[in-house]
Amino acid sequence: MARRERLAAMLAAQQVDALLVTSLVNVSYLTGFTGSNAALLVPAAAPGDPGTAVLCTDFRYAEQCAQQTPDVEVLIARPGAIALAERAVRGGRVRLGFEAHHLTVAEHGDIAAVVAAEPAAELVRVGQLVEDLRRVKDPGELDLLRAACAIGDRAMSDLLAVLRPGLTEREVARLLEDRMRDLGAQAPAFDTIAAAGPNGALPHHSPGERPLVAGDLLTLDFGARYGGYHADMTRTVAVGAPAGWQRDLYELVRDAQRAGRHALAPGARLADVDRAARSVIEAAGHGKHFGHGLGHGVGLEIHEAPMIGPGSTGTLEAGSPVTVEPGVYLPGRGGVRIEDTLVVRDGRPELLTTSSKELLVLG
Ligand code: ZN
Ligand code: ZN
Repeated sequence: MARRERLAAMLAAQQVDALLVTSLVNVSYLTGFTGSNAALLVPAAAPGDPGTAVLCTDFRYAEQCAQQTPDVEVLIARPGAIALAERAVRGGRVRLGFEAHHLTVAEHGDIAAVVAAEPAAELVRVGQLVEDLRRVKDPGELDLLRAACAIGDRAMSDLLAVLRPGLTEREVARLLEDRMRDLGAQAPAFDTIAAAGPNGALPHHSPGERPLVAGDLLTLDFGARYGGYHADMTRTVAVGAPAGWQRDLYELVRDAQRAGRHALAPGARLADVDRAARSVIEAAGHGKHFGHGLGHGVGLEIHEAPMIGPGSTGTLEAGSPVTVEPGVYLPGRGGVRIEDTLVVRDGRPELLTTSSKELLVLG
């Protein structure tokens, strides 16, 4: 209810009478609904009229709605977006907002046809209002994210007890994912990355049949989903004694990651946070080996606002969980990435992924 009220105030400020929310994640954020099909109509705040949001889903979820979303009106119809657009126009609403970044061209055409049938009605493109609301998490969301990150940390420490040369990347990824489920995760937050030896030069390598051998660096990027919230963490470990270049690379990435973490503060420009870490890597001559952004928000999605990269605009806000994940990737040789999830706070950020960032040497 509090989230919908904040949205309703934003709609009123934009002179939009109601917003047709078609992003399922946004519907979930605004109502608590967890099914696979729904759209939502949220009226703008009006003096003396709190308005009631209308959720439209299909028969499969009628009973679930009675439990999960007792404080919104529920409509059973398909397609939901069309039914809600008809409802909005019929209700005398004249300016209907829609999520332009989410609708397909075909869906937009269908909705536009409904609105065009009512001469007084107008379809209005709005920005990513709900995504903007989602950037700053409330305490309940942060509790779920903290729990998700704790599962990842625990799974990592349990994995280290059994990690040994001879295991394949796929086996390592499977061990991590099984352990996260055992520890209470709904599922992995995304497909686990386990990249050994030269495969570490591929930032999003898909784990294969390569066995771990002494002399490998092994990069593990993984996280748990818990209560709908996505944890994200990367650690790189050495299998057997690391060579000098591997240790140097590790220390470089660790220094860059620290610089990025220390740059997290309310009001910090996103591009400046990226720069804080990237400049460390560039100064060592590896700028061209760090070709992705520094980090991203996490929450109901594994990648969400704010994105932290060289071209990002905007600033950080307190209460916003983000990742800091610089990497250096040397084609044919291997790579290092170190990633934490942290919450931006007044003062120092809160570290949610607490696994050690010392270079661990296995075997
Ligand atoms: Zn990650
Ligand atoms: Zn990430």
